[in-house]
Amino acid sequence: MSRPILVSACLLGLLTRYDGQTKCNQKVLDFLKAQGLVPIPVCPEQLAGLSTPRPATFFSKGDGRDLLDGKGTVVNRVGDEMNAPFLRGAAEVLKIARISGATLALFKERSPSCGVHQVYLEETIIAGQGVTSALLQRNGLSLCSEDDI
Ligand code: SF4
Repeated sequence: MSRPILVSACLLGLLTRYDGQTKCNQKVLDFLKAQGLVPIPVCPEQLAGLSTPRPATFFSKGDGRDLLDGKGTVVNRVGDEMNAPFLRGAAEVLKIARISGATLALFKERSPSCGVHQVYLEETIIAGQGVTSALLQRNGLSLCSEDDI
């Protein structure tokens, strides 16, 4: 039986990235097909109502798990704090998981929303999770990134 899986929309070829581009990943498309998984494209930042293109974002303090605990901060390149929209986008993706019955997610590594194992703290890559990944994991979903397959 086909299983639903949430997938970062940019990995599937949708033009959702902050720069209006995609990160279409053939390895991801092949993996989904080989596994018989039904991808549900999600972009937490667009679901938050942010525009595309939009300024790049990164953590200035902690990571997504810290942000959920009120101890992290995500900012954009023009200096706006972006905690509220990032939490909103994460909550919208969790709703989609509930609606679809998806218990799996394959997300874009190092994104402040979607990073599974790594994110950017300012200019530096650190171990950590994006905001949406952290929320999904806390709600029982299993996560992997394009680097895991
Ligand atoms: S928020 Fe996630 S899905 Fe949207 S463009 Fe960034 S990495 Fe891709």
